[in-house]
Amino acid sequence: MLDNRGVWVYVEQNEGVIEGVSLELLGAGRKLADKLEVPLAGILLGDNVRELAEEIIFYGADEVYVVESPVLKQYRTESYMKGVILLAEKYKPEIFLYGATPNGKDVASAVATDLSTGLTADTTMLDVEVEKRLLEASRPAFGGNIMATILCKKHRPQMATVRPKVMKALERDTARTGRVIEESLEIREEDMRTKVLEIVKDVTKKSLADAHIIVCGGKGMGDERNFGLIHELAGLLGAGVGGTRDVVEAGWLSHDHQIGQTGETVTPKIYFAIGISGAIQHLVGMKNSEIIIAINKDPNAPIFGVSTYGIVGDALEVLPILIKQFKEAFH
Ligand code: FAD
Repeated sequence: MLDNRGVWVYVEQNEGVIEGVSLELLGAGRKLADKLEVPLAGILLGDNVRELAEEIIFYGADEVYVVESPVLKQYRTESYMKGVILLAEKYKPEIFLYGATPNGKDVASAVATDLSTGLTADTTMLDVEVEKRLLEASRPAFGGNIMATILCKKHRPQMATVRPKVMKALERDTARTGRVIEESLEIREEDMRTKVLEIVKDVTKKSLADAHIIVCGGKGMGDERNFGLIHELAGLLGAGVGGTRDVVEAGWLSHDHQIGQTGETVTPKIYFAIGISGAIQHLVGMKNSEIIIAINKDPNAPIFGVSTYGIVGDALEVLPILIKQFKEAFH
């Protein structure tokens, strides 16, 4: 069993569109595969999805295993699990990564149970111990107070689900070439225990994860009325509004605006962190933003450790100036 070789990424597609986290995992998987000197493979299941194999190669895979079947048209645990197990039992990877999306978590846990192997959930850091070929999957533990590195020493494949927006995808490179291996799944629709009757999309929720600019306020804003300055700046910039857990607990924002370990993970182009101390549980949700602009009256606040630009000052004085400047610039 410990002779298994290769790093695999489960490539999640919905209606023929590859999930962003799968591309991020191909980037992370590439590093692990290079360290272990083994190929990186993408695992693609669906109905009429073969043409996506090329994209998976452009984003870093050496090989793509494709299973196509009408029973894979929509995600169902039973058919997807069987497709993945068919491949894993035949080709025996040593590491197998999944996005920590609802479907990714679902299929990963079913596959881990069937293959009697371990699964680290909601990983935020990945590395590999080359000599022992051990995946080091790290995630916050004990209420977020420590990072735990979890190993799966005795079983293969070593599996992990990884949070979206934590790893970085490689640049799409159309010069990359690779091998596509097709396998067929012998399940008929009549044999399926679950049927998809209708898919109803939730169009009410716009995720902060898609915002290019986020203005995030913390407890340092003082009260709900002052927090209005955060909304005002965000409105001027066409930005999303975020808050720390303390802000959500104070009732200044609803939970779907919370950023951090128990909220959203975001990577906007510009992230304003205003009156935020920079606790680790907040940083894990925003530290990969492209530009971080922090405003805090304490020069030693940890948020300055991750920020691109820092303003040491009282947010209640700095924000009105910023808002005035932006208004003048835009009109
Ligand atoms: P504080 O830590 O109180 O910081 C306020 C900051 O504002 C200070 O740095 C202060 O110097 C500054 N300040 C004060 N007045 C002003 C002013 N007038 N102008 C400028 N600066 C000012 N937190 C999250 O954010 N997201 C999570 O998902 C999350 N999950 C958690 C999960 C667990 C299991 C645990 C234990 C904690 C979690 N937390 C989370 C909480 C986290 O540990 C911190 O308590 C929280 O992030 C602190 O929020 P804050 O920065 O708004 O407040």
